[in-house]
Amino acid sequence: MKLAVWYEFGKPAVIEDVNIDPTGPGKVKLKIMATAICGSDIHSVKGEHGECKMPILAGHEIAAIVDEVGEGVSYVKPGDHVVASLVKAGCGQCRHCITGHPHLCPKGRQEFKLPGCYTLKDGTRPTATGGPLVGFAEYTLAPEECLIKIPEDMPFDVASLLGCGVISGFGAVTNAAQVKPFESVLVMGTGGVGLNAIQAARFVGAHPIIAVDTFDNKLKAAYDFGATHTINVKTEADLIAKVMEITEGEGVDYTFVTVAGIEAKRQAFSMLAMNGKQVIIGHGVGEMLSDFDAVEFVGGKTMTGSAMGRARTRVDIPNIIKLYKAGRYKLDELISNRYPLEKINEAMEETEKGGALRNVIMF
Ligand SMILES: [Zn+2]
Ligand SMILES: [Zn+2]
Repeated sequence: MKLAVWYEFGKPAVIEDVNIDPTGPGKVKLKIMATAICGSDIHSVKGEHGECKMPILAGHEIAAIVDEVGEGVSYVKPGDHVVASLVKAGCGQCRHCITGHPHLCPKGRQEFKLPGCYTLKDGTRPTATGGPLVGFAEYTLAPEECLIKIPEDMPFDVASLLGCGVISGFGAVTNAAQVKPFESVLVMGTGGVGLNAIQAARFVGAHPIIAVDTFDNKLKAAYDFGATHTINVKTEADLIAKVMEITEGEGVDYTFVTVAGIEAKRQAFSMLAMNGKQVIIGHGVGEMLSDFDAVEFVGGKTMTGSAMGRARTRVDIPNIIKLYKAGRYKLDELISNRYPLEKINEAMEETEKGGALRNVIMF
């Protein structure tokens, strides 16, 4: 079977023929149908996610068909269509799972291991940069807890977006911030995650919904996904003044920052209304928040994070699929291009340039 291997940080991937281990206890062998390219895949293969032993593998936004199941697997059977997500479903028994926060389940965290389930021709077993999943491969082994069943008529290309980019944006709004009707929202960075924050904000009835980015094509997409106002920070001389003007001097109730950089977080925090909440989604390596005046918090402003939308994957993903099928949630429009595995370097380059929303590798 074929997979993409990175032998050096910042260098193109090589497509190799490899062997995959047999399915083990609790593990599921997947025949991958589509894997979307995420911004964090690009960071990983450039060595921007900290230490990682080479060679490495990537890809974690996966839609697949179950090929074989290992001992003890009960959730899926061969032939089932699934999405794989880095967020595990949880044990269903601990206090976090029972109270609706399976993303905090300690069982999931302990089992968050790299797979190393492939053998290259020289006997090397490459590691994965994206936790327990490898998506840029024809087959992969995944923990059962990472899987979410999807209907058979759900197209694989759009389904691949659900396990990471879509839930990260959607869940930030619905789970982390729990935005309510008529509350105001600002989304900074309108790539794949930001667009899903915007359409979740529209779905829950937020108003206004302000999109901020540096690319006009992404702001056009933001408008199509439900933004009521768009601002290009490259051409807007005073971003904060503009946001205050839109919100009649009040500031926004929520800021969702999907981009790296302290300056963006600083700016977004100063645009908050008195009781506003900032949700940090995107971050760079070693990004330190400092020089925040305590008085800014005394009025009631808060700041929190949202990793992968605090997703309850087996609830949130089927819900989003229902909305998509009813024509109430855009997924097709998130895909810019589809590529075969052989063109992964081109697909990643295009994603990095910033012109694409999501590029998907199709198998
Ligand atoms: Zn991702
Ligand atoms: Zn649990």
